Amino acid sequence: MPRPTDTASSPACADRADTSERPRGRLFVLSGPSGVGKSTVLEQIRLLVPQLWYSVSATTRKQRPGEVDGVNYHFVTHDQFAELVEQERLLEHAHFAGNRYGTPRDPVEERLAAGEDVLLEIEVQGARQVRAAPGLGAEAVLIFLAPPSFDELARRLVGRGTEDEATRTARLDAARDELAAEPEFDHTVVNTDVKSAAAGLVQLMAESRPGSPVR
Ligand code: ADP
Ligand code: 5GP
Repeated sequence: MPRPTDTASSPACADRADTSERPRGRLFVLSGPSGVGKSTVLEQIRLLVPQLWYSVSATTRKQRPGEVDGVNYHFVTHDQFAELVEQERLLEHAHFAGNRYGTPRDPVEERLAAGEDVLLEIEVQGARQVRAAPGLGAEAVLIFLAPPSFDELARRLVGRGTEDEATRTARLDAARDELAAEPEFDHTVVNTDVKSAAAGLVQLMAESRPGSPVR
């Protein structure tokens, strides 16, 4: 995982010389049960809003085929993850379906301070921690991505084909609790159709602050 000062890979960092006049960026949190389509919808949002900055999480889960270390996740060992927690380098972190996931703190803080909007794609326990974080939680906009139905969620998880049956069961068990958390969020978008869901999310983000780079 890069050190906090390693920001060279982000084109959004190109113009950050004078940040004193800029308002803080806005923090968006996208959450929802595993398999609902968060990554798929985010791919679409990337096309619509190329300048929005996405946090790359640390995780102990195994890399899936096609995933790139440092792009999809920072893939770390359990010991490395424990060290990140110990050193308080994670903004939030959670155990999810047998693995650990967390948001590196410094890159998020740096971008917000530089006036850039930030998007976190995390599960519900993490979203709650962001909401509770001093100085951050009050300004964060929490958005829940919901499936059209539980059966459709299960179908998507099976259809993705990335987990064995035991892992899918763990994720669907977690999904029941996660779906119950929807009222804790500021907004809900139902992912029936990827393009419509992405457009709905972009609109929500644009409306949440005039002048935001999300248009
Ligand atoms: P998450 O990131 O929430 O775990 P994914 O983005 O990996 O979910 O999506 C899970 C599966 O559902 C993938 O196979 C994806 O192609 C499919 N999917 C996502 N959105 C939709 C949709 N609106 N309609 C049908 N299938 C979808
Ligand atoms: P997956 O293993 O399918 O990539 O992710 C499993 C779940 O972990 C998803 O709901 C995803 O949103 C969530 N997740 C990914 N990164 C983080 C993170 O940094 N923190 C938390 N709390 N959850 C995360």
